[in-house]
Amino acid sequence: MSIPKEKIEEVRDRASIVQVVNEYVPLTKRGHNHVGLCPFHSEKTPSFTVNEEKKIFYCFGCNATGNVITFLMKKDGLAFPEAVRALASRYGITINESKRDVPDEREQIYAALRAASEYFSGMLKASAGDPAKEYLKSRGLTGELAKRFHIGYAPNKWDGLLNFLKGRGISVEAALKAGLLVKKDKGPGHYDRFRNRVIFPITDVRGRIIGFGGRAMDDKSLPKYLNSPESPVFKKGETLFGLAQAKEAVSKEGYVLVVEGYFDLVALHRHGFLNSVATMGTALTTDHIRTLKGYTSSIYALFDSDDAGKKAALRGLNLFLNEDISCRAVLLSQGKDPDEFLKLAGPDALREAIVDAPTLMEFYLSTLRSKVNMTAPEGKKKYFEDALSYLSKIGNLAERGHYATIVASTLGIGVDSVYDALKGASSGSLKVKSGFQVKSLPELTLLRVIMKHPELYNPEVEAAFEAFTDGELKTAAKAVAALCREGLPVSGPALLERVEGEALKGAMAELLFKEMDGFVEEPARMVQDSLKSILNRGKIKPSTQDMVKLLEQMGKSDIAVELQKRIDAGPSGKRH
Ligand SMILES: [Zn+2]
Repeated sequence: MSIPKEKIEEVRDRASIVQVVNEYVPLTKRGHNHVGLCPFHSEKTPSFTVNEEKKIFYCFGCNATGNVITFLMKKDGLAFPEAVRALASRYGITINESKRDVPDEREQIYAALRAASEYFSGMLKASAGDPAKEYLKSRGLTGELAKRFHIGYAPNKWDGLLNFLKGRGISVEAALKAGLLVKKDKGPGHYDRFRNRVIFPITDVRGRIIGFGGRAMDDKSLPKYLNSPESPVFKKGETLFGLAQAKEAVSKEGYVLVVEGYFDLVALHRHGFLNSVATMGTALTTDHIRTLKGYTSSIYALFDSDDAGKKAALRGLNLFLNEDISCRAVLLSQGKDPDEFLKLAGPDALREAIVDAPTLMEFYLSTLRSKVNMTAPEGKKKYFEDALSYLSKIGNLAERGHYATIVASTLGIGVDSVYDALKGASSGSLKVKSGFQVKSLPELTLLRVIMKHPELYNPEVEAAFEAFTDGELKTAAKAVAALCREGLPVSGPALLERVEGEALKGAMAELLFKEMDGFVEEPARMVQDSLKSILNRGKIKPSTQDMVKLLEQMGKSDIAVELQKRIDAGPSGKRH
């Protein structure tokens, strides 16, 4: 690490987050906060909130959150040190980087990856790459397309890349961290991870290489696909292959097509669907969805129409409902994947499938209907219950109404009955409107009060935090407790640094903003009340009947008889 920690803190404290954000997003003052249209998702009414005092931003629409440094990282695609340096020079803070000539770890990894990509594309052009060229041709990947995606070839050698990198002065350590080399099991030394494979360089949004995907050239070699392992610059669950090439087309077309494989993606590009990205063989994750939200609010995922494809589509439903974004399932009626579909049916058939694509929820409802016997009452009951469990997760009323109508007409009942049932379904489980799906109101209350009034933190509160049953709240509480114990201010950036994961950070930031709305009127009493209900939870209160039994077992039957008499007399029959 070349930038000292206290310099990073100085930059964060001195930079005005409102001023910096305002250059990207026009902000207006509202109460303690500044609000504007979110730069990370498309919206018409402002839900992007910035607070100068707490030095954080938070979007109530997409949960994007962070401080002034992470804002620049996200918005300009900067690496952490780059963002810190940009702010430092702007605010006149001098950073004396002790060993400026030694690039930091990430820079070394990027350099190793860049060099490797040069090697792979050189090998494809060389005569050694002839079999790879043949293979790529057979899969329709040539010329301009191969160039657009910087396709390469890893020859069938154990030390080809190893020696090339040595010649370039790349350290073995950096190459290992980049996932390019593998340590030998026995004895010293290393060897090339990618051998005899066609290579797809994976880039970030800015087009920097962060990893590679390698495809074997026959179907006998296993694994068929080999990806770089995760590294400080490569997080598989967050990365979408082809986003750098697709982002402009996505904004222009207003939607994005998502597939799973490299060749599927390339096939889409070949047929003019430039607004396409791939997940590198995995299902869509929450992080993928959040990344895509920065470019469009309309996601079309391509699925095979076989059972596996349908199952994959349904697995995504929950994810999209939770992220409050609509996704349509494009079901391909022919071929085993999008690549084959385009070969067999052509691009016009895909365009039609896109126009006809149902939303995931519509697709779910029709699948559900086909799975149960709708002529039998049991079947109707099952359909109704399952449909309700998803309907209740839809926040937007117009959208919810759309699906309620479908459910009602499928069952031949009035739509009001569906609404009535929904009311019943949601009152059963306590859902506070918050990034946290809160299972315990006392836990949430205690946490919020302590965040606003850290001076009320004491050993009893600590014990209650320990007894939290809600996993997310407990993690948040631990971060708050740590700050309280160290006597540090419970501030936005400090808290966000102490929790891991985008989802939790988002929920945490939302709490921070909610907590500023002045809902805490009698903090001490609120702490006492929530402490009582948390700490007494689970303590077994023996019933009076148990007491009677116990007394009899102890041979105190006279007392037991007396007790029984009093119980029978009821609460009004008090006697001395
Ligand atoms: Zn947003």
